[in-house]
Amino acid sequence: MLKNELMNKVNQVKKIYNKHINSIINADSQTHDEALNNFANDIAKLFTTSDVSTRNLETTGKNVMPKVQGYGFICNCGCNVFQKLVDEPHVYKCNACEELYSSK
Ligand SMILES: [Zn+2]
Repeated sequence: MLKNELMNKVNQVKKIYNKHINSIINADSQTHDEALNNFANDIAKLFTTSDVSTRNLETTGKNVMPKVQGYGFICNCGCNVFQKLVDEPHVYKCNACEELYSSK
């Protein structure tokens, strides 16, 4: 990911954080998980690609563990091992649930 693309993502993350932080802080034990889930879902959308129907989903066969901001990236399903698509090396497919993530 190019630096300006990365900074763009960081700014989007900040906006999402600002949107959700109050509801997370003010949540009681009943609503806390839901507030965190809403936050996580919005973050995940930044890195999820939706136009899968026309794609060649063949992967390279090589396992990778991508990092975001220095931390290992973890899929919504909990898996942290991915494979790149052969046709689109910037797109990662989760080894467990096959969700797609774009690195740009
Ligand atoms: Zn997954």
